[in-house]
Amino acid sequence: MSLRIVVCAKQVPDTHNIKGDAMKPDGTVNRAALPAIFNPEDLNALELALSLRERFGGKVTVCTMGPPTAVEILRRSLYMGADLGILVTDRRFAGADTLATSYTLACAVRKQGEFDLILCGRQAIDGDTAQVGPQLAEKLDLPQVTYVEDVLDVKDGKVRVRNLIEDGYEIAEAKLPLLMTVVGSANTPRPPGAKRLMRYKKAVTRSELMARHKGRDYEDANVLTEEEERLRSRGLWIHEWNADDIGADLGRIGMAGSPTKVKEIESVVLARREYKQVPPTQDGVNGLIHDMIKEHILS
Ligand SMILES: Cc1cc2nc3c(=O)[nH]c(=O)nc-3n(C[C@H](O)[C@H](O)[C@H](O)COP(=O)(O)OP(=O)(O)OC[C@H]3O[C@@H](n4cnc5c(N)ncnc54)[C@H](O)[C@@H]3O)c2cc1C
Repeated sequence: MSLRIVVCAKQVPDTHNIKGDAMKPDGTVNRAALPAIFNPEDLNALELALSLRERFGGKVTVCTMGPPTAVEILRRSLYMGADLGILVTDRRFAGADTLATSYTLACAVRKQGEFDLILCGRQAIDGDTAQVGPQLAEKLDLPQVTYVEDVLDVKDGKVRVRNLIEDGYEIAEAKLPLLMTVVGSANTPRPPGAKRLMRYKKAVTRSELMARHKGRDYEDANVLTEEEERLRSRGLWIHEWNADDIGADLGRIGMAGSPTKVKEIESVVLARREYKQVPPTQDGVNGLIHDMIKEHILS
């Protein structure tokens, strides 16, 4: 069966390069101060989507909510092999917590049409909550499997996956349509294809097209429509949707829809101060239990 797959991908600040000005006083990320990258586990989700399309046929759409610059990860997705990119962008989305983000993504996923699978990364490296995937499944009323490492089979409207659990893995089966979150050990994302890069570096959003035409002195509306049609017909059109386009309730997006406020972030370095070696004997274990009860770790 062919699969219509939507991958949700986030452009994130590269948290390996954090400096003092990384956060603004209001607790939101100062994105201008950090290089932006494709969230690593979203690349794994995209790779899984592309390999599923190779096995079963279908279409891979990548959707991101973010500032206009997030279009870069959509172009990168096209270079890797995605069929379509959707940029969900609007100043009114700024400051979204996971509730507002998953609501916005749910509106966008509904607008893009029918689907069989939604793939998210397990976690974004900036917010680090791992909540958006599961919340998106809830909002779309879908079953979900998290921490997916591999898709073993897709047959008769069901998917069989291997997903990580504490100390091991399990084989789970779920009905389509389904949302899965994908872990970093799932695969090695493919590099951008050279031919695709040459082709899709020309893919643009409407804002980019308008910026290209800025200041030209002729009937822009007609020229733009013609050029849009030409780009669409060649698969070089990246959809750009704002809050009105996706029919979002303005009270549920951005700051207005976000009960969580990040007041401060702190870099915590766990350093070993003192340790006690427990001998692998009955007395050793008894002593450990005794100490843990004394420290109120066990009761
Ligand atoms: C330091 C810091 C701490 C934060 N703490 C909290 C907090 O405690 N609670 C809270 O509600 N918010 C918090 N936020 C805000 C949070 O980062 C945003 O809500 C963010 O848009 C989604 O949460 P996440 O980054 O944790 O994503 P996760 O839930 O970790 O992301 C999981 C997956 O969801 C998908 N996804 C996530 N965001 C997008 C997107 N914009 N577009 C497309 N796909 C996406 C991706 O596939 C991603 O791999 C915090 C932000 C920062 C910078």
